[in-house]
Formats: sequence, C-alpha cells, structure tokens
Amino acid sequence: MSESPIHDIFIIGGGINGCGIARDAVGRGYSVCLAEMSDLASGTSSGSTKLIHGGLRYLEHYEFRLVREALMEREVLWKMAPHIIWPMRFVLPYAKGLRPAWLIRLGLFLYDYIGGRKLLPPTKTLDMRTDPAGKPLKPLFATAFEYSDGWVNDARLVVLNARDAADRGADIRTRTKVTGLRREGDHWAILLEDQRSGAAEEVRARLVVNASGPWVDSVLAGPLGKQGVHNVRLVQGSHIVVRKKFDDPRAYFFQNRDGRIMFAIPYEEDFTLIGTTDRDYKGDPHDVKISETETGYLCAAASEYFAQPVRREDIVWTYSAVRPLYDDGASKAQEATRDYVLKADEAGGAPLINVFGGKITTYRRVAESMLEKIEAHLGKRGKPWTASAALPGGDFFKVGFDAQVENLRLAYSFLDASHARRLTRLYGTRGHALLGKAQSVADLGRNFGADLYEAEVRYLMEHEWAETAEDVLWRRTKRGLHMSEGQRQALDEFMRGVSAQKSAAAE
Ligand SMILES: Cc1cc2nc3c(=O)[nH]c(=O)nc-3n(C[C@H](O)[C@H](O)[C@H](O)COP(=O)(O)OP(=O)(O)OC[C@H]3O[C@@H](n4cnc5c(N)ncnc54)[C@H](O)[C@@H]3O)c2cc1C
Repeated sequence: MSESPIHDIFIIGGGINGCGIARDAVGRGYSVCLAEMSDLASGTSSGSTKLIHGGLRYLEHYEFRLVREALMEREVLWKMAPHIIWPMRFVLPYAKGLRPAWLIRLGLFLYDYIGGRKLLPPTKTLDMRTDPAGKPLKPLFATAFEYSDGWVNDARLVVLNARDAADRGADIRTRTKVTGLRREGDHWAILLEDQRSGAAEEVRARLVVNASGPWVDSVLAGPLGKQGVHNVRLVQGSHIVVRKKFDDPRAYFFQNRDGRIMFAIPYEEDFTLIGTTDRDYKGDPHDVKISETETGYLCAAASEYFAQPVRREDIVWTYSAVRPLYDDGASKAQEATRDYVLKADEAGGAPLINVFGGKITTYRRVAESMLEKIEAHLGKRGKPWTASAALPGGDFFKVGFDAQVENLRLAYSFLDASHARRLTRLYGTRGHALLGKAQSVADLGRNFGADLYEAEVRYLMEHEWAETAEDVLWRRTKRGLHMSEGQRQALDEFMRGVSAQKSAAAE
C-alpha cells in the first residue's frame, strides 16, 4: 500500500468548478489536492463569452431557478473580485420580425426584479436615432432596450481561485493527469501522471470530486473504468475577435433570424468579441476549433446589425470551447439545460461526486452545494464563507477601481496610465507585489512587447503556475492579441530558458 498521507478531498480538473470547490473546501478546513492535466483554465473555463449573467434567454426555457441564482451572484462576484469582474450594460436592439417587444419587456422586467439587484442600474428603453449606441448599427433598429449584467475575465477567475486555495493550504498540481482511480475500502487510490516528465505517482483521498468539465464522462469511463457512461452533452461554442467595431462601452445583444442570440462586446481595449455558436461536438475538447461554417455564421449574423459588415478578413483571433451540458434529452443544442447537477457515484465505498454542467456565473454556488454533499460524507467543518471573502487582488471597494489605478501610479510613477490600468485589471492590489521594488521601467527587465515585461512573466511563473508562452499570452493575460509572432516566440524561448534553469537547480 502507498505511504502517502490521505487527503480529505481530491479534485480532478483545474477549471472554474474544480478551483472554486478547492478554495471553498480548504477554507472550511478540509485538506485538498487538485490535479489539472494541462494548464489551469485550459478547458472550457477560458473559452466562455465571459459574462456574469442571469441568462436572459434561459427565461424562454423556464429555467427560473438557474436565472434567479445566477442574477443574485452578479453583485456577490463583483464585490469579491472588482478587478476582474465589473458591470456592463447591454443594448438589445429591437425590430419587427424578431421577438415581440412585449415579450422582451416582460423578460427584462423579471430580470430586473427576481435577482436581488442593488447597485446595478435597471432596464431602460433607448431611442437609437439619438442614442450613441445606435450609431454603428443599421438605421432599421430605431428602438432598443438597455439592461445590466456583468463581465468577467474567466481565465483569471480560475487562477485566482486556485491561488487563494493554495494560499490557504491546498496542493494544486498542474500538468498532472489522473490516469487511474481505485477504491481501497474507505479511501481512494489515485494514479497521477506528470505530463512534463511522464513520472507516475499514487496519492490517496477519502473523497474524490470529478470536476473535469467536458471530460467528466471520459474520466468515469477511463480512469474509473465504468461502462456505458453518458451524462453530458458536448456542445461547441465559438467566438471571433475583430478590430473594434464601436467606441461605446456598452455591449450588444443581437437576436438572430434562426431564433438564437449572440453578443458583440467591447474587448481588450482595441477589439470587439462576437459570439457564440451552439453545435453538438464529438472528439477531444482540447482539439476544438472554429469551423468555416461557424465563422460564416457569426460574420453574417453580426452583419445583419452593424452598418459596416463584419468580414472574414477583419478577424484577428478566434477561440472555441465545449460546454459540458447535463444531458436532459433536449433535441436542440441551444435548448439543453444550462443548470448544474451534482451526482454521487452509487457504487458504495469511498465517495465520488461528479459535477455535470454549470456556468462560470454559478461556480461559487456549485462549490457551496458540493460542500453540502461533502459534509454529509466527511462531517461538517467550517461554514459557507466565500460570499464575503475577496479573491487575491480584489480587496478594494467594488466601485473603487479607478482609485486603485491611481494608487499604483502613485507608488510606481514611471508607469504610464494604460499600463497601470492593465496591471490593475489583471492583478488588482497584487500589482504592488508584482512590481516589487522597481523604481523605473528598466527595473522591470526585458520588454517582450505590448507592455509585457520580464517582471510580470516571472510573477506569473512563480505565483500563477504559468509554464508556457501560451499560458501567459492567452490565459493569464491576453497580450497575445497585441504582439507579433516574433515577439510571442521570443517570450516562448525566454520561458523555456527559465524553466530549464529551474529544473537544473532542482536536480
Ligand atoms: C462557448 C461558451 C460560452 C460560455 N459563456 C459563458 C458565459 O458567458 N457565462 C457563464 O457563466 N458561463 C459560460 N459558459 C459556461 C462555462 O464556461 C462552463 O460552464 C465552465 O467553464 C465549465 O467549467 P468546468 O470547470 O466544469 O470545466 P473546464 O473549465 O473544462 O475544466 C475541466 C478541467 O479538467 C481537466 N481534466 C480533464 N480530465 C482530466 C484528468 N484526467 N486529469 C486531470 N485533469 C483533467 C481539463 O484539462 C480541464 O481544464 C460558456 C461555455 C462555452 C463553451
């Protein structure tokens, strides 16, 4: 038998659900180990539309429980992490032939009142002939409704949950794949494989949480060896990023002719994010890519609204991800429930609890529900605590973002305004730890382009599990959008060098 200590909880998957559960559990006093086979948030949790939203469209599917819970989370999450989460206003243009105005008004009325809104402003009607939101659109959209939801930097939300979990004592292992799961009486033996070295290791835990998102069934079928598993429906969603189509800080909510909806959102200062699609997916979720048909669909649907069409040649980046939707037998991909379901494996012996479905918006509530189930097996420890505890860097007043930017500039007067703003958006109050004793730009080390300096890269490698250029360019930051291929390669070489030095020092 292995000699390793027995953790209370072992979590498979470093997406938003796994990291959120790890943080909540360790904060209540359980010992926690989490394994992520690739980078944190490399699965679905960096490929979302990045909205903290109730989901106006889900009202059409009568998902009132989910919508209410998600709406209530908007202001809770904003308060926990005001650097990476903030309110956004959405403009929903209306024209004849789309959903009737009375139906939209009714939906928005419910949206305003079922979700415990405090600081977020209510819905209003816009005259698009005079409102600046009408300017980039075709003149046929004379009226619109404007409502509130929230924006989140999804990949950073995952990393900050992992960081906080680790700061509280959780063992977070990235590039570590779970390859075997075996019940040994009252505990689990979990076989791990280091994806860098190929080294195998066995660890033990009293309870396993399967939070592997779109891989949830393959974990049950592979490492656990279960037959005939089918709990989730895999639904691909893709986005395109184009040079910015409008200056307004508000986002657009477009209704498509096929009854679907999509968003056009101000993104990373210079861009517009457009998405998403919905189509059933087969294959490994890590290989998912936008198809030609989806690209054409997004360009055509957005061009129905914008006065200047969205062309394929305008696209500067695309990304795709796979939704792990709980399979409730819905016939169409867009009709499958967005709600989450937590289900224990009934085989007896040491418990295994699976997470099926869910949204970024409800991750904290998923963790709280999971903790109720965990308590039933392992006994109660602490109380629910995450609703009022800031995530790393988020310990400032939720409407105080601009003051934080000024604080950083006061401490580091060599930073220009946009650099200080970017660092505050990503790291909040931890920007000070990142910049350390720097007194000039030269103290930040090598400049890889687009404001990305060695000091930031080293901080991400030391404190946020970044190992490759991709982790830094496309998940911890989105600097990849602003840098040339040559600059991205130089970063890759630099990070390989740092990793090699670290391995040599460890030997
Ligand atoms: C296109 C799209 C748009 C969306 N938009 C929104 C939105 O705007 N707002 C919102 O609230 N929600 C949105 N969602 C939903 C949300 O993104 C997902 O519900 C959420 O990210 C799922 O998180 P997860 O942790 O369950 O899965 P994941 O993020 O996929 O995490 C699972 C992790 O498990 C790891 N893993 C798998 N197998 C193993 C193994 N054997 N060993 C170790 N690790 C393993 C994977 O590498 C992966 O990182 C969207 C989803 C999609 C696809």
